[in-house]
Amino acid sequence: MKKHGQMIGSEILALALLLSLAGCLPGEEGPDAGNTQTGAAQSEPGTVEPAGYIPPEENRSFAASGMDCCPTEDGTGFYCPGTQILRYYDPAARDLITLCPQSGCAHGDESCEAWLGESVSGFAAYEGSWYVLAEENNSAVLRRIDPQTRERADVKVFQSQNIYDSYRLSSGVVAHGYVYAWLDHDWWEDQTVYQKESFLIRISQDNGTTDTLFDTADYISPADRVTFAGADEEQVLILAETLTSDYLTQEEYLAQNPGEDYGLYLMDLMEEEGVYELREYAFDMSDYRVVAEGARTSSSWALTRYGDLTLYAVDNTLYVYDLATGESRMLVEAPGTLRNFLMVDGKVMYLVRDPELHVCYLDLDDGEIHTLENEGKTDGAVFSIMGECGSTLFGNYNGKEGNLLGCYISKEDYYAERYENIFY
Ligand SMILES: [Zn+2]
Repeated sequence: MKKHGQMIGSEILALALLLSLAGCLPGEEGPDAGNTQTGAAQSEPGTVEPAGYIPPEENRSFAASGMDCCPTEDGTGFYCPGTQILRYYDPAARDLITLCPQSGCAHGDESCEAWLGESVSGFAAYEGSWYVLAEENNSAVLRRIDPQTRERADVKVFQSQNIYDSYRLSSGVVAHGYVYAWLDHDWWEDQTVYQKESFLIRISQDNGTTDTLFDTADYISPADRVTFAGADEEQVLILAETLTSDYLTQEEYLAQNPGEDYGLYLMDLMEEEGVYELREYAFDMSDYRVVAEGARTSSSWALTRYGDLTLYAVDNTLYVYDLATGESRMLVEAPGTLRNFLMVDGKVMYLVRDPELHVCYLDLDDGEIHTLENEGKTDGAVFSIMGECGSTLFGNYNGKEGNLLGCYISKEDYYAERYENIFY
């Protein structure tokens, strides 16, 4: 809690300059987050630009096609997956290139070296391979691509039986040799009655062996929800939201409250009587222990895991759970309502409303808390972080420079709030 609100403007600028002069910002040892690596650690001095922490590979979300970028293996740039092909963004050259060296290629089918699949929803680079979530002919595919040879292999296919039957892998996370993903299955019973089920599954990257961890059909109420919160070789973290009190079915509710919104009713009920738990399950899901009661994740869910560290909140206090040690640590008690939180570059970013909005970050290296000036804006963060590579943040900017979607800013410029240096 030290220095809250004091480290502003020129002091942050001075800090950023100091760190960049140190060569491999912000240090050769990352926070304790599994396979954290730094950009400059394995290179000759002066051959790599000063860079922040390279985000760890473990527990990283698949980048959503057409929306997200994810860091390259060496952390120097971004992979920007489209719904069919893969592009690479080089922040040093400020250049977006299609990853296909074939001259004259139209980049439109399997013959293209940048080809990922027919209808791709997610992309991840993990342990030297590329992984793709794709939907092809109503079937869902987890595909592995060798970045060197561009050879494609389907690790797992959820096969559609006919045109009334479809599977989709909507989102996923890579962790310790497995892909954790949400699988949606839609079908028309007797070609007339629409049915849908969703599963949280775990697919082995070695052999495609698949386990079902949760099945929405098993939920007690329609308000129940499970959120994947991290995994290692021995356990799986799950945020479980359950409604244990009695509730009305949609039919009962609408009979008593014609024209009202059943979804809102469930949300209000969850707010009053819902049970929120961070659970640590045994790897085979046979048993769990409650790590924290009242635990919630943030709307920046994809950035709440940083290697084997998982961020969560109880009321207005932020915690981090470390899968490696099995322990939670309190990080900061927000001086107001905690609105959102995420972790990039070895730092925990969070928004507090008191009632004005403050954009803060906690540096895990020195425990110091900083508050950004945020251009004086009090209704939202001027730069919403969506992703990072070693040197650069990716996100949306909405402030004095205008409304810029899917733009980039160097980490140094972000901490110094030099938004005029945002680039594409
Ligand atoms: Zn091509």
